[in-house]
Amino acid sequence: MATDRPAVRFEGVTKKYGAVTAVDNVSFDIAPASLVTLLGPSGCGKTTTLRLIAGLEQTSTGRILIDDKDVTLLSAAERDVSMVFQSYALFPHMNVMENVSYGLRAMGLGRAQAAERAAEKLSLVGLSGYEKRQPSELSGGQQQRVAVARAIVLEPKVLLFDEPLSNLDAKLRRRVRDEIRGLQQDLALTMVYVTHDQEEALAVSDRIIVMNAARVAQDGTPRDLYNEPTNRFIADFMGDANLLDVEVLSSNATSARVKVGPLLLDMPARGNAPGPAMLAVRPNAVRILADQAATGRMRGRVIKSSYLGDHMEYRIAISDPAVELFATSPDVTPAVAEGTMVGIDFDPAKIVLIKDD
Ligand code: ATP
Repeated sequence: MATDRPAVRFEGVTKKYGAVTAVDNVSFDIAPASLVTLLGPSGCGKTTTLRLIAGLEQTSTGRILIDDKDVTLLSAAERDVSMVFQSYALFPHMNVMENVSYGLRAMGLGRAQAAERAAEKLSLVGLSGYEKRQPSELSGGQQQRVAVARAIVLEPKVLLFDEPLSNLDAKLRRRVRDEIRGLQQDLALTMVYVTHDQEEALAVSDRIIVMNAARVAQDGTPRDLYNEPTNRFIADFMGDANLLDVEVLSSNATSARVKVGPLLLDMPARGNAPGPAMLAVRPNAVRILADQAATGRMRGRVIKSSYLGDHMEYRIAISDPAVELFATSPDVTPAVAEGTMVGIDFDPAKIVLIKDD
């Protein structure tokens, strides 16, 4: 049933631990049937935010609503949410079936009915036939799927994931993350997902709430965050941008003329008045040109050239402005050797003026 009301709403939520403010006046809405990631560096407050939704922590000030109901003062057991932890937290002495049906049995469901519903969810996560195994007889990825089945079997209003993939190796991480996303979409679940891995967040999310130092740094779709960072922190965090001091020479509602060293760029305006500004240049926006003498180009020397299999990474010392650029290129043969003097310009589609800083 479609509904406009948010599945989760934070209204000016603050959480303090003594002198530490872990979450500082945070507000957001999470739409039903969406997957929203809380992303940010270590210590930014994302786990605390998740635990506040779960009711495992209580707010210092502010309100939390789940499905339009004020749950601020309710305990974890009184909120209709389930959490999947980093460590899976499976009961080690119970087999897979017992683990998945445990919550239903605790709610008073009969053994047969609980087993039927548990079997259905185990089949959804691709683990039919594993019912009798102990957790110790499963791989990390399988244990994670049991943890997911155990959470969704309770059909909570909101499913919470705390770094669910951090114990898995890189290949499995990609597969399990796709499975979680597939399940969320097939069953129209509302999921809030904590990670510090920006690629994982970009891959699975409808929306990403990026936190920095206990506050929301930006809240938007993966494309918004990557293409339209509103501040320096986001530009740097989402995609390793080079941040350059530039001069906006002129601007109107739609476009801005920007000077960076000898380069003159006409680019989409983002509300910057003429004067100093900041330009974010993605590593793959840096074009390395053999002809360094052409006018309207920056010049530089390649000081580091690294072969990464499917692409090259370069560090290039530019003379005007005096900066070092980090650049990537899909052209691995021939590569540009260290010490080579090169001309530089930027792919206009992959650079963006920063709005706020
Ligand atoms: P990580 O990625 O490292 O898990 P995080 O973004 O999830 O980090 P939180 O665990 O939410 O960060 O912590 C936010 C801040 O609150 C940190 O400075 C942390 O030290 C502090 N903090 C968290 N829990 C407690 C607690 N129980 N008592 C005191 N301080 C805490």
